[in-house]
Formats: sequence, C-alpha cells, structure tokens
Amino acid sequence: MSLQKHILFILLNLCFSMLYAQNPETNFEDYKKYFFEKYWELNPASATYQGVDGYAHLLPIIDPTTVQNSIDKYQSLHQLLKKHSPNTLKTSDRIDYFLLDNQIQSKIWHLKYYRAYEWNPSIYNISGQFHKILKDDLTTAEKTQAIYSKLLQVPAYYEAAKKNLQKPTVEHTDLAIQRLKGGLDFYEKDIPQLMEEYMDLKKIKGKISKKKLRNAHEAALLSVQSFVQWLENDLRPSLDNPKKKRSFRLGKDLYSKKFAFDIQSDYSAQKVYEKGMRDKALIHLEMKKITQQLWGKYFGDSLEHATLAHVKQLIDKIAEKHVKRDEFVDAIRQQIPELEAFVKEKDLIYLDPKKPLEVRATPAYMRGIAGASISAPGPFEKDRPTYYNVTPLDHYTEEEAESYLKEYNHYILQILNIHEAVPGHYTQLVYANKAPSLVKSIFGNGTMIEGWACYVERMMLEEGYGNHEPEMWLMYYKWNLREICNALIDIGVHTQKMTKKEVMNLLVKEAFQESTEAEGKWRRVTLTQVQLCSYYTGLTEIYELREAWKKVKKDKYDLKLFHTQFLGYGSAPVKHIKTMMYQDYLD
Ligand code: ZN
Repeated sequence: MSLQKHILFILLNLCFSMLYAQNPETNFEDYKKYFFEKYWELNPASATYQGVDGYAHLLPIIDPTTVQNSIDKYQSLHQLLKKHSPNTLKTSDRIDYFLLDNQIQSKIWHLKYYRAYEWNPSIYNISGQFHKILKDDLTTAEKTQAIYSKLLQVPAYYEAAKKNLQKPTVEHTDLAIQRLKGGLDFYEKDIPQLMEEYMDLKKIKGKISKKKLRNAHEAALLSVQSFVQWLENDLRPSLDNPKKKRSFRLGKDLYSKKFAFDIQSDYSAQKVYEKGMRDKALIHLEMKKITQQLWGKYFGDSLEHATLAHVKQLIDKIAEKHVKRDEFVDAIRQQIPELEAFVKEKDLIYLDPKKPLEVRATPAYMRGIAGASISAPGPFEKDRPTYYNVTPLDHYTEEEAESYLKEYNHYILQILNIHEAVPGHYTQLVYANKAPSLVKSIFGNGTMIEGWACYVERMMLEEGYGNHEPEMWLMYYKWNLREICNALIDIGVHTQKMTKKEVMNLLVKEAFQESTEAEGKWRRVTLTQVQLCSYYTGLTEIYELREAWKKVKKDKYDLKLFHTQFLGYGSAPVKHIKTMMYQDYLD
C-alpha cells in the first residue's frame, strides 16, 4: 500500500470508528469498550491492579442494595452482549465473546449464590489496594488525593462489612485476622509518611488541608482497628457454636457451578476426579517399574517386588543430586539457553529471539510467596521486560536449604524451568501477546495457561529431553502426581467430605510429598476452591486434543504446527480452541 493510500485508509477507518464509537449494540469493538467502562466502575480494585488509571480513589461499599445494583448492571451488560451473534464474529472476537459471556454470568452467580461477602471476612482486607497506589508511578499529590478519597470511605465500608458477615467460616476468619493485622502497619506508618511528604509540597491546586487529611486518616485507622478487634473478640469466639459457622467445604452444587465458570472445560469435576484416580494408578505402576530397574544402581542389591515405600526411598536417594545453595539462581540462569537450544534443535516450537527472558533474584517486596515465578507486564504496560524471578536461598537455615534443594533437585529443577519458562509459561505468554486482546489478557483462562505449562513438561520428555534417563522420568512422575493430587484433594474435600487425614495420606504416601508441603496444601484447599484443579484438567485437555489432532491430520501432522496453531488463539479455554481449530481446518 502506498503512503497516500495508507493515510486515506487510516482516515477512513477513523471516520468509521468515530461514526460507530457509541454503538455497543451493533459493533463488537464498541461493545468491548463499553463493557470495560462499566466493568471497571463495578470493580475499581481490579482496575487499579491491572494498571488502569482513574479508579484508585474508589472503595464501593458492599451491602444488599449495592449487591442488587451490581447484579442489575451485569444483567444489562449481558443483554447487550446477547445482541451480538458469536457466529458472525471473527475467530479472535468469537473467543472474546465467550470469555465475556462467562465472566458476566460468573459475576452474577458469585453475587447471587456464592456470596463470599457473607462468609469470607478476608475479602475485606483492602490494604493491598492502598499498597498498589503507593507503588504506582504517580506523583505524591496524585497518590495522596487517591488515598484521601479512599480513606473517607473506609468507616462506612467496615460498618457494612460487619452487617454482611452473618455466618463465616473459621478458616477465612482466621485468615482475615492474620492479614488485616499484617496490614495495620501500613495505616500506621506508610500513610502518615506519605501525608508528611504531601504537606511539604508547595503550589498544588486544591491542596487538601492538613486537618482534613488527618481526620480522614484517624477515622479510617480507627475503623480498621475496631474491625479487627470485632473479628477477633466477637465474631471468632461466636464460631465455637456450630450453628453460627459455615463449613469451608463448598458442597457439590456450588462447587460444580464454580468449576464450570472458573475452569471452562468440557470435563466436569466428577470426570476429572475419575480420570485422576485412573492416572494415579497407572503412574504408580510406571514408578514401580523404574524403581525395580534402578534399585541395583543406587542400593547395590536387586529388588524382587517394588512397593510405594521403595519408590519413596529411591526418590529420596536420587534427590541428593542437586546444585549448591549459593548457585541456585545461577544454575537456573544457565539452564534457560539450554532449554531454548533443545526446543530449536528438535523444532518443537518457534521462539522469538527478540523477546528474551531476564532471570533475576526476586525483588525483596515480592519474596515469601513462591520460589520461582514469571513477572509479565500487564496489558497496559506492554513495553516492560518479562522477568523470571528466582528467590535465592539466603534466608534459609542450612537444614531448610538442604530440604528445599532436595525438593528442587537436579531433575525437578529442569522440569520447573520447562514449566515456568521455556517452552512453558513464558513462551505461551509471548504468543498470547502477539495477538493482543484486552479481554484475553484480563480474563485469560487459567486452566489453559497452567495446562500448557504442565503439557510441555511431558512433551519435552517425550521428545527426548534428559536423554530418556529413567531418573528424569521418575521425578517427572512425582511432579505429575502433584498436579493430579491437587485436583483429587480439591474435589474430594469440597464435594466428598475428604478428611485432613485422608488428604495427608494421599499426598505423603501416594504422591511422595514432605509433610510440611502436604500441610500447606491442606490449608490452601480449606481456603480456596477449584483453582487447584486447573493444572491437571488443562494438561488432560491439551494432551487429548493433540492426540486427536494427530488422527485428524494423519501424515500431515506436525508437532510444531500444532503448537503454533494452538497458542495462536491466545489464553482461551481449551474447549473453545478445540472448536476453532476444527472449524479452521474444515474451512
Ligand atoms: Zn504454572
């Protein structure tokens, strides 16, 4: 296209979009714009976390009237969405349509039936929102103005919260007390410090007076403190009465609905559970075979019949091979180019050389969450680099470091890097960003994202990563069992009354986990629902799709093409990707 034609084209496009900018009923682009305007108003905290300007000063009160208002607003957003027909939209928009449809219905369901505001006091911990404002690239004046408006709303916010919390769970009440107490420091130190900086500023239009600021801060601090006291001294003791408390188990009905909204799979929770049980049995057989094969190499004598206890003993022995504690971050840094070289050599997936990944020691303010994670720029902050954060082991005692290094031993460390970085989360993200879609970056499907990272672990080993060493496969199976058991305990605890003892037994004896890790998992399963199913469900769906795709394409099947096409649809639910792949194939 010549330059002149190009400019004309842009102008025409501009006129076109100006003409239709206000037509969310007929133009899907306009609908999406309209949707987000309304959505951020309803969820200002999410807007702030996503880096959207203009919502940080809001703190909507949660009470029966505002809940009903929100339901009404979501319902009208839904009606408007239904004026569009997914079949007439282009592929990428069609997936956006399904994601929006799911998101709106999920929000309505959460407000009407899930009702966390009645039983989960930890949702009223708002210090994270204040934190985010302090960390943002705003001037002192902008930060103070946003925080001041928010502080003014705090007392009414906690008054309403107390009324809402009719029948909470013990677990979420304890969590709320712990987190809110942890956040008090912020009101006591960080905000006053910001206020001082603000008072020192000169020449600000409409400067808030010192008195107003101080009053707002004092009233807010007082109301947070009294909310914590109320939780600790009134609400928590009242939960000793079984009639007053709610079980942390979600129950079959709510769970199956939440599963449908969060996972968005063709699989039901029950089907995932059944498949998980079968896979666990198969993996145990494979692990026993490997144990028999390797026993002589590690213990000198031969083994007639391998049991799960033998498997555990062998895993412990092999785990002794690990990097030194002070070489942990460097070892990961060195491994990334090796993984990239393998992916290229085997032609598994195209890696964009212009998008390197930076391995760094986790910044101090992020530590204490996970050992390794990917920090990707948000949809509104695209130019920032992507980091692979690895927490150095310097805060551990000698014993703790050894136990951690045995967990992330020579073999598992490689699987972890495959999962987090190449060709796992990081590679998937590069592809997702190629076809930018605000809807997908905000409401991207966690099951597809985790499923992909779990799928490539297995795919890399199948393609010969690790030279088909039995040790590598044994450790992979242990890792894979964790993914499966995450789903088994989540479904078991929330829908089948699985006890803590049963959970611990499953994780320690059948999935070879340390009891500290298993304890942590138990806590997580009492506080969250469904998310733990995403790894195994996503893995299963992607693996099955690939096997089916092989049969469809016959001699034209190519692994690299499958991966490229699969990732090309962005972070969408696998069931939708599957439909699109078949449609595109038939067209
Ligand atoms: Zn992951």
